[in-house]
Amino acid sequence: MSSHEVQTPSVSGDVYAAEAVVDLAVIAANISRFRELYPEGHICVAVKANAFGHGAAEVARVAMASGASMLGFARLSEALALRASGQDAPMFAWLNDVADHAALAAAADIDISVSGLENLREIAAAHSGVAVHLEVETGLNRGGTSPEDWAEFIAEARRFEAAGQIRVRGIWSHLSHASDADISRSRAQDQRLRAAIAAAREAGLTPEFTHLANSSGVALIDPTAYNMVRLGAGVYGIDEVGIGLNPAMTLSARVMQTKRVQAGEGVSYGHTYRAPRDTTLALIAVGYADGLPWAAHGRAEVGFAGGRRPVAGRISMDQIMVDMGDLPVAVGDRVTLFGPGTHGEPTAAEWAGWAGTLEHEIYCGIGSRINRRYIFSQEESTSDE
Ligand SMILES: *Cc1c(COP(=O)(O)O)cnc(C)c1O
Repeated sequence: MSSHEVQTPSVSGDVYAAEAVVDLAVIAANISRFRELYPEGHICVAVKANAFGHGAAEVARVAMASGASMLGFARLSEALALRASGQDAPMFAWLNDVADHAALAAAADIDISVSGLENLREIAAAHSGVAVHLEVETGLNRGGTSPEDWAEFIAEARRFEAAGQIRVRGIWSHLSHASDADISRSRAQDQRLRAAIAAAREAGLTPEFTHLANSSGVALIDPTAYNMVRLGAGVYGIDEVGIGLNPAMTLSARVMQTKRVQAGEGVSYGHTYRAPRDTTLALIAVGYADGLPWAAHGRAEVGFAGGRRPVAGRISMDQIMVDMGDLPVAVGDRVTLFGPGTHGEPTAAEWAGWAGTLEHEIYCGIGSRINRRYIFSQEESTSDE
């Protein structure tokens, strides 16, 4: 089960001071957009890190209903957790973070990645028959087997496969510069992966899935060269290369208290903010423990009543103060921390800019104290199973 389901009862509406509303129709539309760009092959939707903070169980369901072939995870433990919750879709995890990972993955029917020779031998030694995807080092210099070791690696993989110890189901790599305007590095990685796949087939391996592109790489890579793409960021509306994707999450919170302060009074820790004139402050119970980056103080704004109001002073662990000026504001009114930006509110991308980080990190940081509520366009649904 995803963390929010464990930690919050299944209730909807205004009982939570703060909530992240995830529009699953937007996620489905983003996947459809990728389908237009990649009409033929398989789509693996990365639901790692609780689906970039959006909720792995719910995103997994909408991804499979939207035509995905597989769910992608960083860690095997994430895949095992979702499998245990009842999700029976094909799954692939590329970091084996638990002991006995080959046996556990085989028992749960989860594909795992093999990064190198040592890793291959260890996985084969479990005699589990686990389905593996061989990772090729093509330029990222992260995981994967280098071209100079590839011949030995695939020869050994073939022997283990013939003995029933593993099954080679995929061959893959990951781009280092997928969102770069200069595509020369992606082209070089593409060439290296094609060569590695050709050599593997030559050696008798018959990979069912070959995959290189992530969200921003989809439009770069010849769609006929591989038969799967692994999509994360774009599914959640992080549109690094401008292909018409939309954010699915809106984070909002209720005003818990209001107070008037006089011009010149300091607000929050260290009094880094001084009220520029007599003003109304609103207390919002969302802080850096919930994912609002501390580093955004001094720049951050929130959406309120169709406009924007500044966050006054430092972001605390659990709360922020918002300078409402002379706007009428009452306890229970909602502010929007971020959303798609269609009602004047900031976007997660703007928060990332204020904090000097990535939009990805904003979404992934939305913590377990924030209730997730799921809607499908205008139709609302609660997060209970
Ligand atoms: C996260 C991840 C993806 C998804 O990439 P996006 O840029 O988020 O689409 C694909 N492959 C690997 C190995 C990843 O770690």
